[in-house]
Amino acid sequence: QVITRFAPSPTGYLHIGGARTALFNWLYAKHTNGRMLLRIEDTDRERSTDAATAAILDGMAWLGLSWDGDAISQFERAARHREVAEELVRMGKAYYAYETPAELEAMREHARANGLPPRYNGHWRDRDPSEAPEGVRGAVRIKAPLEGETLVRDRVQGEIRFPNKDLDDFIILRSDGVPTYMHAVVVDDHDMGVTHIIRGDDHLTNAARQTTIYDAMGWDVPVWAHVPMILGADGAKLSKRHGAQGIDAYRTMGYLPAAVRNYLARLSWSHGDDEVMTLDQMIGWFDIDDINKSPARFDFAKLEALNGVHMRGMDDAALTEALFDTLPYLPNGEALAAQLDDAKKAQVLQAMPGLKERAKTLVELADSLYFIAASRPLQLDEKAAGLLDADAKAVLKAVLSHFQALDEWSAATTEAAVRACAEATNLKLGKVAQPLRAALTGRSTSPGVFDVLAVLGRDESLARIADQID
Ligand code: GLU
Repeated sequence: QVITRFAPSPTGYLHIGGARTALFNWLYAKHTNGRMLLRIEDTDRERSTDAATAAILDGMAWLGLSWDGDAISQFERAARHREVAEELVRMGKAYYAYETPAELEAMREHARANGLPPRYNGHWRDRDPSEAPEGVRGAVRIKAPLEGETLVRDRVQGEIRFPNKDLDDFIILRSDGVPTYMHAVVVDDHDMGVTHIIRGDDHLTNAARQTTIYDAMGWDVPVWAHVPMILGADGAKLSKRHGAQGIDAYRTMGYLPAAVRNYLARLSWSHGDDEVMTLDQMIGWFDIDDINKSPARFDFAKLEALNGVHMRGMDDAALTEALFDTLPYLPNGEALAAQLDDAKKAQVLQAMPGLKERAKTLVELADSLYFIAASRPLQLDEKAAGLLDADAKAVLKAVLSHFQALDEWSAATTEAAVRACAEATNLKLGKVAQPLRAALTGRSTSPGVFDVLAVLGRDESLARIADQID
């Protein structure tokens, strides 16, 4: 059975790269009927926070990514990491080294001066433990192979060879007894039974070092899949301007989780020319062997277009519900939510077929509700107020009497009435529709005016028109 894991460090929000890593692990686990585990890599006590853990879990929940079993805290497993380090010492695969920080700094300095990479010189590697200075606790270093090369067989990057002369005897347990990240990851992945490690390619050299630990313990090396990073649309490293924000920012920008998931899935992975995918399709199609080696570019315009497609693909009730659920996260959404009583909410649902055609995000959709949310007397914006001169008010009077004569109130009947009114007064349709729009919505642009009439209903429409005729 395939076991993947997502192993975020809780030092900040769940950013877009982390979200994609989580998604790939989740998709691959689902695709193979396997399991995805979650490990919070909170060994760095100074930089790890509970708030960051909460933000990561919240981001995963929003994206619909669940994990199997309990979330594991790496920090809580420190005793086990120490145990393995000591076992390696007993087996002669690791050793205690007693350099002071000053001595290590001198070693690095010496290497730099000679144009060599700063690496540990192996001073304690083959020394007798009886030579250890008294009263000093050493750090545990792994005995890295001195010759040959370490092969990382990566399902995305291919076979990468690391000359062993470049890999020094790195520390697995600090002299204060705290395990290093490099070591903790290996012990945890082994103990959790992880079979596939899918993560960012910034960890590729770590894979070589981690292989040293697997080999020393005689453990099977998992399948590696190092995924290329995400670049900005201009090919530069992803910055905040490019979209390198916490995943919650995407909720605030009005993107649907389904669209974000779909968009992220296609960053360095694809399935033919398919752009719009349902979750089931992604699960069915996703395979690590189809992950691309070249970095993907993050493009807001594409995400937005995709979001529009997903919005229009939802049925009206589901989209309306998603909108209402998201309002608290949107700019000014709380105020809007407060304006929407049950009657207005019903109007939103009724208006949805027209509204969703025009919006690419939930923010745009929320903005388009202003004419429903508004209450009488309407505040007209400058352009709308400008449309309502004396002539226009005379037109409104004429429209009002045509409307009052209607037996049935719908987009079709009100349209017929407006057309009849335009003919009777010898005006172009627009000359009637524009003041009408201004009176009904307070703005000069809006969804189709007949849809607006139908959604607002007879009483509210007539009252809004009358409000503008003094
Ligand atoms: N905690 C590491 C990170 O957030 C991931 C380590 C791993 O996946 O092996 O970058």
